[in-house]
Amino acid sequence: MKLVNVICYYCGSNRSSFFDSENGFNLVKCDSCGLLYVNPRPSDEDITKGAETGLHQGEQTLDLTGSFNEEHVKRFNKILNKIYGKNIPAENSSWLDIGCGHGEFLIALKQKYDSKLIFKGCEPNSVKVDSAVSKGLDVETFFPEEHDGVYDYVSLLNVYSHLSNPLNSLNSWKNLVKTGGELLLETGDTTGLTTHTIAKPYYLPDHLSFATKDIVVDILKRVGFEIIKIHYFRHQGIPDLNLVNVPYDIKETITGKKNIKELKKYSRKYSYRDMWIRARRVED
Ligand SMILES: [Zn+2]
Repeated sequence: MKLVNVICYYCGSNRSSFFDSENGFNLVKCDSCGLLYVNPRPSDEDITKGAETGLHQGEQTLDLTGSFNEEHVKRFNKILNKIYGKNIPAENSSWLDIGCGHGEFLIALKQKYDSKLIFKGCEPNSVKVDSAVSKGLDVETFFPEEHDGVYDYVSLLNVYSHLSNPLNSLNSWKNLVKTGGELLLETGDTTGLTTHTIAKPYYLPDHLSFATKDIVVDILKRVGFEIIKIHYFRHQGIPDLNLVNVPYDIKETITGKKNIKELKKYSRKYSYRDMWIRARRVED
Protein backbone atom coordinates (compact mmCIF):
# COMPACT_ATOMS: atom_id res chain seq x y z
CA MET A 1 0.00 0.00 0.00
CA LYS A 2 1.30 3.42 -0.98
CA LEU A 3 1.16 6.10 1.73
CA VAL A 4 1.12 9.82 1.09
CA ASN A 5 2.24 12.66 3.33
CA VAL A 6 -0.37 15.37 3.76
CA ILE A 7 -0.76 18.76 5.42
CA CYS A 8 -3.77 19.98 7.42
CA TYR A 9 -6.68 20.32 4.96
CA TYR A 10 -8.34 22.94 7.13
CA CYS A 11 -5.65 25.57 7.85
CA GLY A 12 -2.92 24.44 5.45
CA SER A 13 -0.27 24.11 8.15
CA ASN A 14 2.38 21.40 7.75
CA ARG A 15 3.31 21.52 11.45
CA SER A 16 1.81 18.81 13.61
CA SER A 17 2.55 16.75 16.71
CA PHE A 18 2.13 13.03 17.31
CA PHE A 19 -1.22 12.35 19.02
CA ASP A 20 -1.69 8.57 19.00
CA SER A 21 -1.23 5.48 16.84
CA GLU A 22 -3.44 2.55 15.89
CA ASN A 23 -3.26 -0.28 13.38
CA GLY A 24 0.11 0.89 12.06
CA PHE A 25 -1.06 4.47 11.41
CA ASN A 26 -0.23 7.72 13.20
CA LEU A 27 -2.86 10.24 14.19
CA VAL A 28 -1.30 13.71 14.40
CA LYS A 29 -2.65 16.98 15.75
CA CYS A 30 -2.26 20.16 13.73
CA ASP A 31 -0.15 22.59 15.81
CA SER A 32 -2.12 25.48 14.42
CA CYS A 33 -5.83 24.51 14.43
CA GLY A 34 -5.99 21.27 16.45
CA LEU A 35 -7.36 19.05 13.68
CA LEU A 36 -6.54 15.37 14.21
CA TYR A 37 -5.57 13.64 10.98
CA VAL A 38 -3.88 10.47 9.76
CA ASN A 39 -0.40 11.19 8.42
CA PRO A 40 0.95 9.65 6.30
CA ARG A 41 -2.36 8.37 4.98
CA PRO A 42 -3.40 5.86 2.26
CA SER A 43 -3.56 7.20 -1.30
CA ASP A 44 -6.91 8.50 -2.63
CA GLU A 45 -7.09 5.35 -4.77
CA ASP A 46 -6.75 3.09 -1.71
CA ILE A 47 -9.28 5.20 0.22
CA THR A 48 -11.84 4.76 -2.58
CA LYS A 49 -11.11 1.03 -2.72
CA GLY A 50 -11.58 0.78 1.05
CA ALA A 51 -14.95 2.55 0.86
CA GLU A 52 -16.08 0.23 -1.95
CA THR A 53 -15.06 -3.02 -0.29
CA GLY A 54 -15.35 -2.14 3.41
CA LEU A 55 -11.82 -3.55 3.78
CA HIS A 56 -9.19 -1.22 5.19
CA GLN A 57 -5.54 -2.25 5.11
CA GLY A 58 -3.24 -1.65 8.05
CA GLU A 59 -1.31 -3.94 10.35
CA GLN A 60 -4.65 -5.71 10.42
CA THR A 61 -7.28 -5.58 7.70
CA LEU A 62 -10.47 -4.11 9.13
CA ASP A 63 -13.70 -5.46 7.66
CA LEU A 64 -16.26 -2.79 8.44
CA THR A 65 -19.10 -3.84 6.12
CA GLY A 66 -21.30 -5.17 8.95
CA SER A 67 -25.02 -5.79 8.48
CA PHE A 68 -28.38 -4.02 8.79
CA ASN A 69 -28.96 -3.06 12.43
CA GLU A 70 -32.51 -2.54 13.72
CA GLU A 71 -31.14 -0.84 16.86
CA HIS A 72 -29.73 1.95 14.69
CA VAL A 73 -33.20 2.54 13.20
CA LYS A 74 -34.68 2.92 16.69
CA ARG A 75 -31.90 5.29 17.69
CA PHE A 76 -32.33 7.38 14.52
CA ASN A 77 -36.09 7.60 15.16
CA LYS A 78 -35.45 9.18 18.56
CA ILE A 79 -32.84 11.53 17.14
CA LEU A 80 -35.11 12.64 14.26
CA ASN A 81 -37.86 13.45 16.75
CA LYS A 82 -35.46 15.51 18.84
CA ILE A 83 -34.02 17.40 15.87
CA TYR A 84 -37.14 18.02 13.78
CA GLY A 85 -39.92 17.57 16.33
CA LYS A 86 -43.29 17.76 14.69
CA ASN A 87 -42.02 19.78 11.73
CA ILE A 88 -43.10 17.85 8.69
CA PRO A 89 -41.30 18.73 5.48
CA ALA A 90 -43.54 19.77 2.57
CA GLU A 91 -44.99 16.93 0.52
CA ASN A 92 -42.78 15.71 -2.29
CA SER A 93 -39.65 17.10 -0.64
CA SER A 94 -36.59 15.10 -1.62
CA TRP A 95 -33.96 13.72 0.73
CA LEU A 96 -30.54 12.31 -0.23
CA ASP A 97 -28.55 10.35 2.35
CA ILE A 98 -24.88 10.21 1.31
CA GLY A 99 -23.03 7.19 2.70
CA CYS A 100 -26.33 5.58 3.69
CA GLY A 101 -24.77 2.20 4.52
CA HIS A 102 -27.38 -0.52 4.98
CA GLY A 103 -30.13 2.13 4.94
CA GLU A 104 -31.01 2.42 8.64
CA PHE A 105 -31.35 6.21 8.52
CA LEU A 106 -33.49 6.09 5.35
CA ILE A 107 -35.77 3.52 7.01
CA ALA A 108 -36.10 5.78 10.06
CA LEU A 109 -36.97 8.72 7.78
CA LYS A 110 -39.56 6.64 5.95
CA GLN A 111 -41.12 5.61 9.27
CA LYS A 112 -41.31 9.24 10.39
CA TYR A 113 -42.41 10.86 7.15
CA ASP A 114 -44.22 7.98 5.45
CA SER A 115 -44.72 8.64 1.74
CA LYS A 116 -44.56 12.42 1.96
CA LEU A 117 -40.92 12.53 0.96
CA ILE A 118 -38.87 11.12 -1.89
CA PHE A 119 -35.82 9.32 -0.56
CA LYS A 120 -32.55 8.39 -2.20
CA GLY A 121 -29.38 6.87 -0.83
CA CYS A 122 -25.79 6.92 -2.09
CA GLU A 123 -23.37 4.24 -0.92
CA PRO A 124 -19.98 3.10 -2.29
CA ASN A 125 -19.97 -0.39 -0.69
CA SER A 126 -21.81 -2.86 -2.99
CA VAL A 127 -22.73 -5.27 -0.17
CA LYS A 128 -24.40 -2.39 1.69
CA VAL A 129 -26.17 -1.25 -1.50
CA ASP A 130 -27.65 -4.76 -1.98
CA SER A 131 -28.65 -4.85 1.67
CA ALA A 132 -30.44 -1.46 1.42
CA VAL A 133 -32.12 -2.32 -1.90
CA SER A 134 -33.43 -5.56 -0.35
CA LYS A 135 -35.27 -3.32 2.17
CA GLY A 136 -37.04 -1.59 -0.72
CA LEU A 137 -34.84 1.52 -0.66
CA ASP A 138 -33.67 3.51 -3.68
CA VAL A 139 -29.92 3.26 -3.16
CA GLU A 140 -27.17 3.50 -5.76
CA THR A 141 -23.43 3.97 -6.03
CA PHE A 142 -22.31 7.28 -7.47
CA PHE A 143 -19.76 10.00 -6.81
CA PRO A 144 -21.77 12.84 -5.20
CA GLU A 145 -19.65 15.42 -7.08
CA GLU A 146 -20.77 13.86 -10.40
CA HIS A 147 -24.45 13.50 -9.46
CA ASP A 148 -26.78 16.03 -11.09
CA GLY A 149 -29.76 15.78 -8.71
CA VAL A 150 -30.74 18.65 -6.37
CA TYR A 151 -32.43 17.91 -3.04
CA ASP A 152 -34.39 19.71 -0.30
CA TYR A 153 -32.46 17.73 2.31
CA VAL A 154 -29.06 16.06 2.25
CA SER A 155 -27.69 14.04 5.17
CA LEU A 156 -24.08 13.03 5.84
CA LEU A 157 -23.91 10.71 8.83
CA ASN A 158 -20.55 9.31 9.83
CA VAL A 159 -19.11 10.44 6.50
CA TYR A 160 -16.95 13.45 7.47
CA SER A 161 -14.16 11.43 9.12
CA HIS A 162 -13.91 9.13 6.09
CA LEU A 163 -13.14 11.97 3.67
CA SER A 164 -9.54 12.76 2.72
CA ASN A 165 -10.46 16.45 2.33
CA PRO A 166 -13.90 17.32 3.77
CA LEU A 167 -13.47 20.99 2.85
CA ASN A 168 -13.18 20.14 -0.86
CA SER A 169 -15.90 17.48 -0.71
CA LEU A 170 -18.41 19.75 1.06
CA ASN A 171 -17.60 22.61 -1.29
CA SER A 172 -18.55 20.44 -4.25
CA TRP A 173 -21.43 18.52 -2.59
CA LYS A 174 -23.20 21.72 -1.46
CA ASN A 175 -24.60 21.91 -4.99
CA LEU A 176 -26.74 18.86 -4.17
CA VAL A 177 -28.68 21.02 -1.68
CA LYS A 178 -31.24 23.50 -3.04
CA THR A 179 -30.82 27.11 -1.95
CA GLY A 180 -32.85 27.29 1.27
CA GLY A 181 -32.58 23.51 1.61
CA GLU A 182 -31.00 21.76 4.55
CA LEU A 183 -27.91 19.72 5.32
CA LEU A 184 -27.70 17.39 8.30
CA LEU A 185 -24.10 16.51 9.15
CA GLU A 186 -23.14 14.13 11.93
CA THR A 187 -19.59 13.59 13.18
CA GLY A 188 -17.62 13.47 16.43
CA ASP A 189 -16.56 16.66 18.22
CA THR A 190 -12.99 16.45 19.53
CA THR A 191 -13.04 19.82 21.31
CA GLY A 192 -10.97 19.55 24.48
CA LEU A 193 -10.35 15.81 24.14
CA THR A 194 -6.99 14.20 24.88
CA THR A 195 -5.63 10.75 24.01
CA HIS A 196 -7.04 9.67 27.38
CA THR A 197 -10.60 10.90 26.86
CA ILE A 198 -11.20 10.55 23.10
CA ALA A 199 -13.46 7.72 21.85
CA LYS A 200 -11.57 4.57 20.79
CA PRO A 201 -10.97 2.61 18.66
CA TYR A 202 -10.30 5.28 16.02
CA TYR A 203 -10.72 2.76 13.17
CA LEU A 204 -7.62 4.00 11.34
CA PRO A 205 -7.25 4.23 8.38
CA ASP A 206 -11.00 3.99 7.64
CA HIS A 207 -11.34 7.25 9.58
CA LEU A 208 -8.88 9.85 8.30
CA SER A 209 -9.55 12.91 10.45
CA PHE A 210 -11.44 14.09 13.53
CA ALA A 211 -12.40 17.73 13.89
CA THR A 212 -13.64 20.15 16.51
CA LYS A 213 -17.04 21.81 16.37
CA ASP A 214 -15.39 25.14 15.46
CA ILE A 215 -13.60 23.62 12.47
CA VAL A 216 -16.69 21.88 11.05
CA VAL A 217 -18.90 24.93 11.61
CA ASP A 218 -16.35 27.20 9.90
CA ILE A 219 -16.04 24.83 6.93
CA LEU A 220 -19.84 24.77 6.53
CA LYS A 221 -20.01 28.58 6.66
CA ARG A 222 -17.15 28.94 4.20
CA VAL A 223 -18.78 26.69 1.60
CA GLY A 224 -22.18 28.41 1.88
CA PHE A 225 -24.28 27.17 4.82
CA GLU A 226 -25.72 28.90 7.86
CA ILE A 227 -26.05 26.88 11.06
CA ILE A 228 -29.62 26.28 12.26
CA LYS A 229 -28.80 24.26 15.36
CA ILE A 230 -26.25 21.78 16.74
CA HIS A 231 -27.53 18.79 18.72
CA TYR A 232 -25.42 16.32 20.69
CA PHE A 233 -26.26 12.62 20.94
CA ARG A 234 -24.44 9.50 22.00
CA HIS A 235 -22.00 8.07 19.44
CA GLN A 236 -23.34 5.55 16.94
CA GLY A 237 -22.71 1.97 18.03
CA ILE A 238 -22.27 2.96 21.68
CA PRO A 239 -25.57 2.11 23.31
CA ASP A 240 -27.05 4.62 25.67
CA LEU A 241 -26.66 2.96 29.04
CA ASN A 242 -30.08 4.29 29.94
CA LEU A 243 -31.66 2.23 27.16
CA VAL A 244 -32.78 -0.77 29.12
CA ASN A 245 -33.66 -2.82 26.05
CA VAL A 246 -30.14 -2.88 24.60
CA PRO A 247 -28.79 -6.36 25.39
CA TYR A 248 -25.67 -6.31 27.53
CA ASP A 249 -23.79 -8.58 25.13
CA ILE A 250 -24.06 -5.91 22.43
CA LYS A 251 -22.58 -3.32 24.78
CA GLU A 252 -19.85 -5.77 25.71
CA THR A 253 -19.06 -6.53 22.07
CA ILE A 254 -18.64 -2.86 21.32
CA THR A 255 -16.60 -1.85 24.32
CA GLY A 256 -14.92 -5.11 25.33
CA LYS A 257 -15.93 -4.37 28.92
CA LYS A 258 -16.83 -7.44 30.93
CA ASN A 259 -19.26 -6.07 33.47
CA ILE A 260 -21.77 -3.26 33.82
CA LYS A 261 -19.69 -1.42 36.44
CA GLU A 262 -16.62 -1.41 34.20
CA LEU A 263 -18.75 -0.35 31.23
CA LYS A 264 -20.31 2.56 33.12
CA LYS A 265 -16.90 3.76 34.24
CA TYR A 266 -15.66 3.54 30.65
CA SER A 267 -18.70 5.35 29.29
CA ARG A 268 -18.28 8.23 31.76
CA LYS A 269 -14.58 8.52 31.12
CA TYR A 270 -14.67 8.61 27.33
CA SER A 271 -16.50 11.09 25.18
CA TYR A 272 -18.90 9.29 22.93
CA ARG A 273 -20.93 12.33 22.02
CA ASP A 274 -21.49 13.15 18.38
CA MET A 275 -22.62 16.47 17.02
CA TRP A 276 -25.52 16.63 14.59
CA ILE A 277 -25.31 19.91 12.73
CA ARG A 278 -28.43 21.18 11.02
CA ALA A 279 -27.49 23.80 8.42
CA ARG A 280 -29.27 25.74 5.67
CA ARG A 281 -27.81 26.48 2.26
CA VAL A 282 -27.71 30.20 1.66
CA GLU A 283 -27.62 31.92 -1.71
CA ASP A 284 -24.28 32.05 -3.45
ZN1 LIG B 1 -4.69 22.92 10.86
